[in-house]
Amino acid sequence: MKELILASNNAHKVEEIKSILEDYSILTLKDINYTKEIVEDGSTFEENALIKARTICKYSGKIAISDDSGLSVDLLDGRPGVYSARYSKEQTDEKNIEKVLLELNGQKSKAKFVSVIALVKPDGTELTFRGECYGEIIFEKRGTNGFGYDPYFYVPEFEKTMAELSIDVKETISHRGRALRELISKL
Ligand code: IMP
Repeated sequence: MKELILASNNAHKVEEIKSILEDYSILTLKDINYTKEIVEDGSTFEENALIKARTICKYSGKIAISDDSGLSVDLLDGRPGVYSARYSKEQTDEKNIEKVLLELNGQKSKAKFVSVIALVKPDGTELTFRGECYGEIIFEKRGTNGFGYDPYFYVPEFEKTMAELSIDVKETISHRGRALRELISKL
């Protein structure tokens, strides 16, 4: 089985990525004893995904992949974007969405989730794959699956929030699922 090092310890992302890359052996940062913080100071999802994958490819000497993702809200000019994980002072899922809802101030808005998967190989190859998923922000929490902004991200096609969809359905339509299927086609 081909081994890939995933530059993440986010349990939700790891679960989703392992489920889609089921034909690969996926090792996380914990598995390779990488404990340092990786500073994500890029201004795009692509830059941040590459920073993570490059760092881990160099550290491990093996093929590394990473996911940089987030929510982009139309009426907020694309915010929180690359700052999705640290949008509020407290940097928690609850406080991050609270800030988004406060800024929207009751206005309905379209939004999209974006995921960029980076692949970096020891021979210097660097590739990125972008997946997007379209929906809208709602003001009441619905559903308990998923993570982050999922309970407030309504997918009109299914008349459900992302947190009301099963992991299997989320995989087929999500930003991460789309980006990962692009990656698989190139592996
Ligand atoms: P990253 O770890 O810097 O890529 O931050 C990603 C952040 O974007 C997460 O902490 C979530 O807040 C948000 N996010 C990314 N993907 C999803 C998703 O599939 N559902 C809900 N929130 C997501």
